Amino acid sequence: MAVGKSDVEIFKPRNDKREYRRIVLPNSLEVLLISDPDTDKAAASMDVSVGYFCDPDGLEGLAHFLEHMLFYASEKYPMEDSYSKYITEHGGSANAFTSSEHTNFYFDVNVDCFEEALDRFAQFFVRPLMSPDATLREIKAVDSENQKNLLSDGWRMSQLQKHLCSKDHPYHKFSTGNWETLEVKPKSKGLDTRLELIKFYEENYSANLMHLVVYARESLNDIQKLVEREFCDIRNTERDYFHFLGQPCSLEHLQILVKAVPIREGHALKFTWPITPSIRYYKEGPCRYLSHLIGHEGEGSLFYILKQLGWAISLEAGEGDWSFEFSFFYVSIELTDAGHEHIEDIVGLLFKYILLLQNSGIMKWIFDELVAICETGFHYRDKIPPIHYVVNIASNMQVCQTTLLCWYHW
Ligand SMILES: [Zn+2]
Repeated sequence: MAVGKSDVEIFKPRNDKREYRRIVLPNSLEVLLISDPDTDKAAASMDVSVGYFCDPDGLEGLAHFLEHMLFYASEKYPMEDSYSKYITEHGGSANAFTSSEHTNFYFDVNVDCFEEALDRFAQFFVRPLMSPDATLREIKAVDSENQKNLLSDGWRMSQLQKHLCSKDHPYHKFSTGNWETLEVKPKSKGLDTRLELIKFYEENYSANLMHLVVYARESLNDIQKLVEREFCDIRNTERDYFHFLGQPCSLEHLQILVKAVPIREGHALKFTWPITPSIRYYKEGPCRYLSHLIGHEGEGSLFYILKQLGWAISLEAGEGDWSFEFSFFYVSIELTDAGHEHIEDIVGLLFKYILLLQNSGIMKWIFDELVAICETGFHYRDKIPPIHYVVNIASNMQVCQTTLLCWYHW
């Protein structure tokens, strides 16, 4: 089979003995193969560049629901849930997640069962079943997942932030979906959720939008043969990547104070700024520099003072919720009861510290120190479990590709 091999050199850590190869199948599916003769677990992750931003209006949660349905059964393996059962019976685990612009499916399993596990996995993308029976059951599963999220402060606050942003931006959407959005509302409009689901799958799931990472004990040549056989039948409709230009926040959504009652006891203070996505300056890493200083815990740092005053338990700073078009910078402070009484003073101290950073300019020695930490971290990090490794790489493959493609346009 004609397969394009990588024309770029793979830059890998110095202490990494594993072998890597990038291939592109004739259907444009881009794959990274990893051969590790020492591993006792094999793993795979498929990242599809379609997420809840693509949900049709009035069918909130459809991308997430599709993730559930694909997982469930395929034409070749029609027994419901047999994939998850096979994986867990053979020493592994399987899961998936849907984010704003991605859906990621992944698993690991004992090395001797990898071939069959991979065949079951590949069938989600070749010929999924999406039966009427499973539809109702999985809408209920999505609904109970949402019920569980309603008890989590992390989910609640994240949805609150989306809700307070522009209604015209997909960031505003309700990503998970529930019984109301996937059953009640579509029905009232005469829509059949299952047919909408199949339409969504056919319109959006195209091999050119997928990135696969496969991690196994076999040689690269053997893994390649297996991957070619299993994944060559995924359709390629040359679907364009989803791009939404524009920002989730305009002036009316900024400089506001929101008070929310958490489920968990305790107080937290969170600041959010819309920023230029730092991926656009990935070589300089501006957010890395800022989060290092604002999140510093040493003497003279903001946290050090807040702790001395007895106002804060922890402080975190960094970029989150980003895409190529928009991004946010956060500072999250866990407060003590006393800290809760001094919110305005804490806001004052944070902005004073930011002013200090602005007036000091970029310190070369701090930047160089961070470069050295990152360099060592990259070359000498401990091996992480294959299942985390494949998800990490698969999620970043499209990001790296887009970064290089966009480099000349920015
Ligand atoms: Zn789910």
